[in-house]
This record gives sequence, C-alpha cells and structure tokens, in this order.
Amino acid sequence: MNVPFNKPYLTGKEAHYIYEAVYTYGHISGNGAFTKRVQNFFEEKYGFRKTLMTTSCTDALEMSAMLLNIQAGDEVIMPSFTFVSTANAFVRQGAHIVFADSRTDHPGMDEQKIEALITPKTKAIVELARKYNIYVVEDAAQAIDSYYKGRPLGGIGHLAAFSFHETKNIQSGEGGLLVINEEKFIHRAEIIWEKGTNRAAFFRGEVNKYGWVDVGSSFLPSDILAAFLYAQLENIEDIQHKRLQIWNQYYAGLLPLEEKGICKLPKIPEYASNNAHMFYLICNSLDKRTRLIKHLKENGIYAVFHYLSLHKSDYYLSKHYGRQLPLSDLFEETLLRLPMYYELTPIDTDSIIECIIQFYKKL
Ligand SMILES: *Cc1c(COP(=O)(O)O)cnc(C)c1O
Repeated sequence: MNVPFNKPYLTGKEAHYIYEAVYTYGHISGNGAFTKRVQNFFEEKYGFRKTLMTTSCTDALEMSAMLLNIQAGDEVIMPSFTFVSTANAFVRQGAHIVFADSRTDHPGMDEQKIEALITPKTKAIVELARKYNIYVVEDAAQAIDSYYKGRPLGGIGHLAAFSFHETKNIQSGEGGLLVINEEKFIHRAEIIWEKGTNRAAFFRGEVNKYGWVDVGSSFLPSDILAAFLYAQLENIEDIQHKRLQIWNQYYAGLLPLEEKGICKLPKIPEYASNNAHMFYLICNSLDKRTRLIKHLKENGIYAVFHYLSLHKSDYYLSKHYGRQLPLSDLFEETLLRLPMYYELTPIDTDSIIECIIQFYKKL
C-alpha cells in the first residue's frame, strides 16, 4: 500500500480555464475576469459582503492587520494551537500576541478563556468574540463551506481569511481570500490590495487618475491562479460530498476504539456543520502517537501530527515569557491526522482503519 497524507485533487478544468485566461482574455495580471468570478462565487454562495482574492491566506491575514491599523503595543488574542501565519500577520505590525488555550474536548480556542485575557490594549481577537467593541478576524483558512448555527464561517468576523493552499479542500497550490464583512473597510482594503493605489476605483471609472494614496502591497494574484481556482470552486459540492463520505467512514470504523477508551475521535458540536477538512485521532499519549505513526508508515500509510504550540516556539520565547497552555500542548502531542483527499477510495480507507485497529490489538 502507498497512501500519501494528501493528494491535491484536480477537476480536469483547471488547464482549460488557464488557457481561456491567457488566450481568450489576454489579461493575466491581477483583478481580471477569473478573479471577479472567484469573488462573485463567494459573495453569492455565502453572502459575504465583499471579497478580494489574495496569493495566500497569510496575505489576507496581513491585509487584515493593516486594515485594523494594528500598532506596537496593541494586544491580539488568538489560539496557540494554530498555524504561524495567524500570529505573524499581527507581529509584523508590532502587536503583542496573547495566546488562549484550547478547549478540553476540541483543539480549537476555548471561548470561555478569552474574556479573562481582554485588556484595554486588546485590539483584535483572531477567531471569536463580540461584546467589548473589539475587532474579530476569522482565520478561516480551513473553514470553507462550514457553518455555525447556519451562518457560513467567514461571514461572522469583521474580516476573515481563507486559504487555497494545496492541502486545503479547495486549492490552487497557493492562494487565499480576504472577506470584508464591515462596509467601512472595503474602500481601504482595495487600496492596500493594489499597492496602496486607487487603481480599482480608477478602472471602475470612479476617479480619473490613479496614484499612491495609502500604504499597501501587491496582494492580488495573477488571473492564471484565479482561473485554476475557479475550476475547483465549480466542483465544490462534489468535492465536499466525497470528503464527507471518507470522514464518515473513518468515524464509523474507528468508533469502537473510542468506545473502549483507546483513543478519541473529533467532536462536531450540534451547532456546527462538518466540512471534512481533516480527520484526526487523539491518542492517549505522545508515545502511543509516535508508535502509531511508525506502524502506519511501515504499512505505507502516511499520517501526520498537526500544529506545534506557538507559545512554546523559539521565536515567541525569544521575546516573551511563555504562559502555560497545557491543552494546546496536549493536542500538539497527541493529535494525529489521517490521510484525507478526494481520491482516497473506500477500500483504502478501510485498510487504514484496519491497520489502526491491528496496532491497538497488538499493544
Ligand atoms: C493553512 C493555514 C494558514 C495559511 O494559509 P496559506 O494560504 O498557506 O497562507 C493559516 N492559518 C491556518 C489556520 C491554516 O490552516
């Protein structure tokens, strides 16, 4: 058997649309025809106020930090159990990052622990909140097509960022999207997106020349990237359906292990839908996880661990005293992601389940 951890899926239309972008439209710099189609897709399907495609989720997060005018001394609350970009985007602006621990039953940030971390300096919370007049930025990198009480993720925060990295459900190799749900940020977001110029307004005929009006960078991708991504988006229903089938098969097959207390499975709260981005096990110890990864690898199956707690990273500790966040550390040490991709067949999935069951039998 040879089952990789991830295999980027192609719908077959990607090259066709790239060809169209290059030879039919002949315009492959940013903010072209396919970029508009991608943005319309998100605005129509999920009701997002305004979206701008970026070259990565990291870029969309950096734009968020710029839009919120994050400055030296501002505090930004976020989980420690997340990807480095969540933090880096705000650190670049001089923010002080305040990490919140994970929940006991879920690796996500514990919303009950956020309130105690809020100070007069808190400028933004990356993921959750409302009541203190603090901005909320959703790092929705993995959250495409997910709903909280019927509301699409990406539509809840003032700003949100999605990723189309090749490890995500919908991918263009690299790629991202900034969602702007707050009217007052739209104008400036377009300027930051286009190198600090009002070029987007110029091309809409709103101003008669364009120039340098604010800080900015080149956050917009070539229309070639958007063309690739659009082919994926057209197939979102099929892709999501397939991933959910794999997820459900894993869940049913591994449930007996959880019932025996051998390991834990992901919990999907009743208020949340499942977008089947990842399937993971929570092992009972670091040692068990290390041995299970080895056992799977010996059988040609590549399973991987997930985030490393940011509050213990070399970079963070070189600047700050780390607080103890034991739950983030627990998920760092025990969470194991299983192979999950469109082309994973039911037979492969069964073999992976069987391989895990055999591992625990031999213990
Ligand atoms: C993947 C991921 C990112 C980074 O996305 P890029 O598009 O590679 O920049 C950021 N945050 C989280 C939570 C992610 O999973």
